[in-house]
Order: sequence, then structure tokens, then C-alpha cells
Amino acid sequence: MRKLNRIILHCSATEPGHDIGADVIRTWHKARGWTDIGYHYVIRLNGVIESGRSLDRIGAHVKNHNADSIGICYIGGLDVNGDPANTMNGRQLDSLKRLCYALCVTLNQPLMLHGHNEYSTKACPSFTVADTLEELKSWCASYQRRFIDQRPPASLELTQYSSGAHCTCGNRECNS
Ligand SMILES: [Zn+2]
Repeated sequence: MRKLNRIILHCSATEPGHDIGADVIRTWHKARGWTDIGYHYVIRLNGVIESGRSLDRIGAHVKNHNADSIGICYIGGLDVNGDPANTMNGRQLDSLKRLCYALCVTLNQPLMLHGHNEYSTKACPSFTVADTLEELKSWCASYQRRFIDQRPPASLELTQYSSGAHCTCGNRECNS
């Protein structure tokens, strides 16, 4: 595995309700002459995480910053007028958290979390990661190999979604 230090977040620059996945983005990127999709992960509108380029391969998502980074793209990033807007919904945010936790735990190391717009004049991912995702960024950056409980703080806990009506019993452990 190559040495990884950073997660760089992107958006697909697509308008609300335009639901595409890694297969479509792969087609776009191959049309540019690339060998494969440039991102390592894609987070769809419904929160499903799709694999893009294999993590052990250098991505193609931020010029001059691909060698040690992981590219994650959420679907969206434009408003109905086609202007940059943070359109990341709750399920996408939960999936981003899960993915960031899993990457830190799997690689067993801290990872810096950045947005594409920190390295480019582009708007992508249509918000400032250091502000909007301040706590997630901090958790990833301070991850250490520990032998003690390392759960994220309550403010970073995942939302429980169920297919049925949402339970209002008030018990946080209740998923019915
Ligand atoms: Zn980008």
C-alpha cells in the first residue's frame, strides 16, 4: 500500500436529484483519456458508498496532490441554478463519517481531511471543509492507535435510519 496522509473531498458538480454513481463518473473520466475513475470512493444521494479506483492506486482528483491522498466524491454540489452549493444530505454525511472512520481504523493512522478547493480555485466540494466538517476533520487528524475505547464524540454519532416510522420513544438505543 502506498503511504496515505490525506482524504480530499470532492463533489460531482451535479444538480439536486441528479443521481449518478461511480459507473457514470468512470465513463466521464475515461472519456478524458484516463485509465479509470479518478476518485477512490463515491457517495451516492441515498448514502450508498461505491468503490471507485482501488485505494492502492494513485487517484486522479487533485493536480499535484494525488500521490498520498484518498479521493472521495459526494454526488451533488450544485443548486437548482447550477451554482455551487453544499447539498450533502444527512445520509451522505453519515456515510462520509463511516468511510472516514473506517479508513483511519483500517489504515491504523490519522488522516487529514481537506476539500479540493484548498488546492485549487475550484469551488469543489462547494463548502469549506475546515468549517463545515470541523469535528470530523479533528477526529480523523487526532486518530491514534489505542487500546482503549475510541468511539467518536456524541456530536459525531451516526444517525439511525429505519425504513418504518421513526420511533419517538426517546430511547436513543431504540431502533424500532
Ligand atoms: Zn473536486
